[in-house]
Amino acid sequence: MRVAIIGAGTAGVSVLREMVKYEKFKDWYVDVYDTPKNMGKGVPFQNDSDQLLINLPAKEMSINIENQREFFDWYQQQNVFKFDNPEYLPRFIFGHYMKSYLNYYLNQFDNINKISEKVEEVFINSDIGDTQVSYSVCTSMDMTSCRTYDCVFLTIGTLSYHDPYNLKGTSGYIQTPYPTYNTLDEVKDTDNIAVIGTGLASLDVIRYVAEHHPNLPLTVTSRSAKLPRVRGNMPELQFQYITPENFNTIKKRHFGNMPLTEAIALFKQECAHFGISLTELLSKENRTHVEQLQFDLTHAEELGTLQSLLEGIKENMNWIWNSFNRQDQEQFLNHYQHILKENSNPMPPRTAELLIAEIENHNIVIKANLQNITYDGQHFCISYGEDKNNCEYYDVIINATGSKSHLSELDGDDQLVLNLENRQVIQAHPLGGIQIVPETNQVISPRYGTLHHMFALGQLTNGINQSRNGVNMIVKQAVDVVKLLLQQSKA
Ligand SMILES: Cc1cc2nc3c(=O)[nH]c(=O)nc-3n(C[C@H](O)[C@H](O)[C@H](O)COP(=O)(O)OP(=O)(O)OC[C@H]3O[C@@H](n4cnc5c(N)ncnc54)[C@H](O)[C@@H]3O)c2cc1C
Repeated sequence: MRVAIIGAGTAGVSVLREMVKYEKFKDWYVDVYDTPKNMGKGVPFQNDSDQLLINLPAKEMSINIENQREFFDWYQQQNVFKFDNPEYLPRFIFGHYMKSYLNYYLNQFDNINKISEKVEEVFINSDIGDTQVSYSVCTSMDMTSCRTYDCVFLTIGTLSYHDPYNLKGTSGYIQTPYPTYNTLDEVKDTDNIAVIGTGLASLDVIRYVAEHHPNLPLTVTSRSAKLPRVRGNMPELQFQYITPENFNTIKKRHFGNMPLTEAIALFKQECAHFGISLTELLSKENRTHVEQLQFDLTHAEELGTLQSLLEGIKENMNWIWNSFNRQDQEQFLNHYQHILKENSNPMPPRTAELLIAEIENHNIVIKANLQNITYDGQHFCISYGEDKNNCEYYDVIINATGSKSHLSELDGDDQLVLNLENRQVIQAHPLGGIQIVPETNQVISPRYGTLHHMFALGQLTNGINQSRNGVNMIVKQAVDVVKLLLQQSKA
């Protein structure tokens, strides 16, 4: 079987890693595509500042589902990188760890081939009247660059960044903060800088600036100006109420779907069982940013338990999410998704401590009610609240608003995905990303139906895999998908 893996970041390397475990692998021939820069590392774990940390303890994140400590053990065994506080290691170290496995497999197996080029087109070969398909993968618009495969993995990672105020291409507007060590290349120490977005990407900018430009003031702004929570002490938990068995029982009474209200009731039972008060932890009390960070730092046990519960929800989100009917999925997105987002993906405690210090030193000002940004040819004008004419002027805007989720939002920055859609290989999922079979990650084409040998993993599947884009969740999907492929090829 000829296999193409398009994108060699966490998902692509994990798929490869899983394949080589099987005896059958010797009969396969695998091409791995990525750019020379990202090959084996992916985008989040590319070479960048050591101030950008992975968001969970190093001992809890690896691409080996059977050994969560593998990354940490790898770090300890090598001598190139050493850090004083290795609990939360820099992200680029994880990139080196993944790449070391890719290189090892490339050396070890003759049937793995690295193609250091970007894929431009993927199309389906099928004669009229025939239901058999094979896949062609092309690295340019010249069809002689195309190679044919029996199986394709679309593991291309995150879609491009939003551009909410249509500023892309404007001088002084930095469309993505990564790699942070290049972000401020063109910025002068006298420039007035605003970061838009108050999520994890903006914390990356803050950490970088605090280390490398210690007295450069930053305004950080968004509509809500809510920062991520601080990571508490997260225990291992076993769900008591949110279980497939309970869902199956309830689904039978509701036309095959789990009502959102009943799922929320089960979640509240979980919270009560583990002794946490949602009212206290999700309090809407008007705390300042510093007060909220301090609250989190001093409630590490309760907050950690809530975060473990939310992490458990995310890990099981494929069957939870896909048990809801479409209306309830929309209700979830409107009313609960932001709670899940704001309270999971926490920042490491030492980032919180740094933030408190930076805010108290007035190096960082966090502002809510961002309304609009315009450019007058010299400066950016940010308006807050209702009054669109009341401007605050900035020389530089760093966009940390995060990546797009819907196919309808894409432009030429995501040309491969647009091409795939145009050739009817993929179709948009109404809640984001593309249509896949939730249980198997097989792509559902509008022209050919379920593509049994085309799999998509990662953020491209965000409509189905709501909130399931962390390393550990991607690795789990890779394990299941490769197992399925093996079963199919035996049949
Ligand atoms: C800034 C940031 C920080 C994060 N930090 C964490 C963290 O600390 N812990 C955690 O669990 N999760 C984290 N995540 C979530 C993260 O997205 C996933 O954990 C994981 O890296 C995603 O893996 P992926 O393989 O889907 O994407 P990536 O690892 O980005 O891999 C996708 C690869 O596809 C390649 N590619 C794209 N298009 C093409 C093409 N046309 N042809 C060939 N190759 C292509 C890219 O170059 C890239 O190498 C973070 C995400 C972001 C954005």
